[in-house]
Amino acid sequence: MSYQVLARKWRPKNFNEIVGQDSTLRMLSNALDNERLHHAYLFTGTRGIGKTTLARIFAKCLNCEKKISSTPCNNCDTCKAIDEGRFIDLLEIDAASRTKVEDTREILDNVPYAPTAGRFKIYLIDESHMLSTHSFNALLKTLEEPPAHVKFLLATTDPKKLPITILSRCLQFHLKRVSIENISEHLKNICEAEKINFERPALELLAHAADGSLRDALSLLDQSIAYCNNTLVTKEIRNMLGTVEHETLFELLKALAEKNGKKLLSEISKLTEVISQFDRLLEALLSVLHKIAVHQTVSDAPADDMIKQLAKNFSAEDIQLYYQIALIGRRDLPYTPHPALGFEMIMLRMLAFHPATHTTTTEKKIMEPQKITDTQNWSHILSELKLTGMAHALASNCVLQKISDTHFEFALSEKHQPMMNTNLIERIEQALTQHQHRAIKIKIIITKDELNTPAKHQQQQQQERLATATSTIKNDSNVQKMIDIFDATLSTDSIVSTDN
Ligand SMILES: [Zn+2]
Repeated sequence: MSYQVLARKWRPKNFNEIVGQDSTLRMLSNALDNERLHHAYLFTGTRGIGKTTLARIFAKCLNCEKKISSTPCNNCDTCKAIDEGRFIDLLEIDAASRTKVEDTREILDNVPYAPTAGRFKIYLIDESHMLSTHSFNALLKTLEEPPAHVKFLLATTDPKKLPITILSRCLQFHLKRVSIENISEHLKNICEAEKINFERPALELLAHAADGSLRDALSLLDQSIAYCNNTLVTKEIRNMLGTVEHETLFELLKALAEKNGKKLLSEISKLTEVISQFDRLLEALLSVLHKIAVHQTVSDAPADDMIKQLAKNFSAEDIQLYYQIALIGRRDLPYTPHPALGFEMIMLRMLAFHPATHTTTTEKKIMEPQKITDTQNWSHILSELKLTGMAHALASNCVLQKISDTHFEFALSEKHQPMMNTNLIERIEQALTQHQHRAIKIKIIITKDELNTPAKHQQQQQQERLATATSTIKNDSNVQKMIDIFDATLSTDSIVSTDN
């Protein structure tokens, strides 16, 4: 049994099977049912939304042997012939391939002759903006004095390229991009009819990827059925489309809301293991930020729980700023040494830059011990600064507290206060100015608190590495044998961690 692609099998045969074009269909149906017919119609809209499908149904409505109506019978010879693309009085012209004036002229030469089989002779000109100037002139002449038995149905993705003289003689209908909800619902109906098992979120992913085009949605559905072996599982569809786990983005943004740098970096690293298309990832992130912004503005706007929660966790300014950072980051992504690195920097930038209105300015707040967050972030910035010697040592013992347009504020434990001097502060300021591409001054506040500084963090890491190395050596079977045979003892003091 041959497999018929879904887009063809499910091509609408009636107006009521067309998805998401209600207002156009209502106007056309009224015109047909009242026989208030124009001689030229223009259907506009992006690719894949069903302009020619609609035009073909319209041709059936005009030529059905029963009568002119918005509900062709689909049973008479004419209806069947149009469905099968073999109706003699429906002349389909693809302007993209036939732009020579002779071709159009040849076709238009036959306009005066009465239709052979139908009520009307119908010219369906697809991609009509591609006609040459000469062809437009030939068409215009016909449109100026159209014989009663002729109807022109023009379709185009780019109506601006049609001459105004043509436009003014056509009744124009703009077909909308089909909404995600409509596409998803349509896919659900098809799956149920085709006895294909599915998870609802899987269909939503497909609808999303189709980007307003029903034709693309059906091709994707075909592809998914083959990929998933007849059961559409969300996870597999995500893999197929290369889309991002919604939950992962949620975790990422949650870490950002908590200003938890450690968690943020760990979520990023999880992502970089599975994602290769960081442009798509940023696109998904932008889409989530947009939804959050909408929900913050109109609280009763439809949103899932994830969006609702994130909307509470961030201020509107945060979201605006993050959107801007993601947008610029996406633009610059091709210039980064590696997209994964570029993505990480974008996220760290979001973490580093809080809108000024939301940074605390009170001395009290600044003196509070920081969470691991800023330490992590500062570690990252620090690793990129060209600092050496004492300046690096001082910076490593600082904890970043606050960033404004002009200042970086740090906390420094009082036991390290003796390290501070004007020369070192100037060197750190110079390095930051170079790194941030703007003039940066630093302010260091001395605190009695224990701080999680980059220096401490590095020390911890070194200890962890050492502990790991020690346990690896202890558990090594060869080492064990030597201990057993020679009654040896392991001198753990001699173990050093060499990396870093
Ligand atoms: Zn019919």
